[in-house]
Amino acid sequence: MLRIMAAVLSVCVGIPIVTSAGAQEPVKVVKISNSIYMAPMASDVYLVMTSEGNVVIDTAPATQAHEAKELLTAVSDAPVKYIILTHGHADHIGGIGLWRQPKTQIIAQRNYVELVNYVVRLDGFFAPRNAVAFNHPVPAVGPWAGDYGATIDPTILFDQKYEFTLGGVRFELFSTPGETPDHLTVWLPAYKVALIGDNYAGIGIPEPMSFPTIYAIRGTKPRPALDWIKSIDTVLALKPEIVLNGHGDPIFGQEEITRKLKRYRDAIQFVHDETVKGMDSGKDVYTLMQEIKLPASYNLSEVFGKVSWSVRGIYDGYAGWYDGNPSSMYELPPSSVYPDLVKLAGGSDRVAQLALEKLQAGQPVEALYLTDVALASDPKNEATLNARIKALESLREHCENFIEDGWLQYGIRKAKETLAAK
Ligand SMILES: [Zn+2]
Repeated sequence: MLRIMAAVLSVCVGIPIVTSAGAQEPVKVVKISNSIYMAPMASDVYLVMTSEGNVVIDTAPATQAHEAKELLTAVSDAPVKYIILTHGHADHIGGIGLWRQPKTQIIAQRNYVELVNYVVRLDGFFAPRNAVAFNHPVPAVGPWAGDYGATIDPTILFDQKYEFTLGGVRFELFSTPGETPDHLTVWLPAYKVALIGDNYAGIGIPEPMSFPTIYAIRGTKPRPALDWIKSIDTVLALKPEIVLNGHGDPIFGQEEITRKLKRYRDAIQFVHDETVKGMDSGKDVYTLMQEIKLPASYNLSEVFGKVSWSVRGIYDGYAGWYDGNPSSMYELPPSSVYPDLVKLAGGSDRVAQLALEKLQAGQPVEALYLTDVALASDPKNEATLNARIKALESLREHCENFIEDGWLQYGIRKAKETLAAK
């Protein structure tokens, strides 16, 4: 399951991918209506045809942009009057250059500018983390491009709403922050079609759908839960008959759309509100990560977003890093005294033994922590590294989340590399 989902999921967070989920089979264009077509790539590309030219919505990752363009231009090669970007993640903007013609207008929500600058500003930080989370090689990172080093392709930026008519077809664009602050929804009232980007991460996996990534395990700013909820409400208020997602299949029928989006929205609201109520009652973040469980009635899995990570994302999004413990105010990390604890315990081997006992007792996280303590004292200790690998493998056995699995594999790889270098 995890392997099958890898390519599909890897694109929901803006990471360029090497192959699409359906790389084995030739991709075929999907007709949504007489005027709307979809190239079902790792990130879907949409073509809306009008009597005065075409509108392209999202452009796929760079690795698939050519294929998407070929599929859609086979349907219509009329001039591209507009490119609309639902958001600035790499898997949606990789084909801008292919579609752009001399008079093409490119539209994005204004927060696009900061989003792409944020990604470029921290490229050296994100690149290795993305590679771990999604199991692909670390790409080359150039010299720092500065705070505002991104290429800004859009020619039209809007704040709340932007409208235009082309060939008699009305396009209404709404700011709908969610997975990113620059997310927009394209509403075509004539067809009752809403294109909502990744705000319902309809990633083409079978039901149950996954809880979203309010916080992505690679390091991101927490995603604004309350904005995300409002944005889904904005989409629902339009009463669409068809919802087209950035990933995965369209959703047809107002009833089905309402059922799916409302469930997703309510789950975000539940996790947000339980976190905030817990914060207000003085509970710490770890307690809330353990306590807050999504009721089964939501029927959402955690294969992509995890509730506990989202709880921490919401908590830290509101409170930042300070946890109220006076010890946390200082530059020295707690690990600075780990070697003293190892000495007290009688050496790294003893701590490694205790880690194995924890593992035997069904406490793999505690085992992992103990190896952190022992490695702070002796980073190449063989018993500790072996215990660590066992703890990570044990966590993998019960892991249902794709991103978590990527990090566990990374931990195993690193420990094995250290052992091999001894
Ligand atoms: Zn995406």
